[in-house]
Amino acid sequence: MIKTKQIGSLIVLSGPSGSGKNTVCDALLAKNHNCWESISCTSRSKRDQEIDGVQYYFLSKEEFEEKIKENEFLEYAIYNGHYYGTPKKAIEEKRKQGIHVILVIEVQGALQIKELVPDAIFIFLMPPSMDILKQRLEGRGTESKEKVLSRFKTAYQEINEISKYNYVVVNDEVENAVSKIESILTAEMCRVDRIEDVDLYTKEEVLHESLMQE
Ligand code: 5GP
Repeated sequence: MIKTKQIGSLIVLSGPSGSGKNTVCDALLAKNHNCWESISCTSRSKRDQEIDGVQYYFLSKEEFEEKIKENEFLEYAIYNGHYYGTPKKAIEEKRKQGIHVILVIEVQGALQIKELVPDAIFIFLMPPSMDILKQRLEGRGTESKEKVLSRFKTAYQEINEISKYNYVVVNDEVENAVSKIESILTAEMCRVDRIEDVDLYTKEEVLHESLMQE
């Protein structure tokens, strides 16, 4: 029997604001119980309906900077003037248990992960079109016009980095996007570099030994 490494994968899901990253991630988590979403820290203020410790750990700028000093983040970035960062500790624990960890983060943070964890899986979620993205950003109604425009410009800059990712998934329908991500995970689990102790299957002496035993 071929034995494969039991460590969970690190999945980095990015995409411009309005691409539906959180919706897709929630739908994936609801279906696939072997995945866990990391909870980030941020220094931005809490929106209505957000709960500290659920969507984010909400910290002051000073508290966030203290954690940077203590080296508590796997990556962090400043986005729209606020800090966002991925706490390191829980990730390794989950991965050791064989659970796939999902980070829903923006591009600067994703590029830092690429340096640190080259075998992480990088997925970029795209809106079906830029027109639809604009409608989604306007339709939210939670942000001022300037903020929508600024998020739209940031979206263009983020899409410019798409070539650094391994996969692109178009979020036309949440279910389709989730099913594509599940297929990506299935394929990644079949990668040859996940085989444990590859020598067991490739050394000629091993072949001879097993022939002798017959
Ligand atoms: P929002 O303020 O809309 O919740 O998030 C703004 C952006 O920050 C989104 O693209 C979100 O994915 C990203 N983000 C959330 N958590 C993290 C994190 O821990 N690190 C980085 N680099 N980006 C994050």
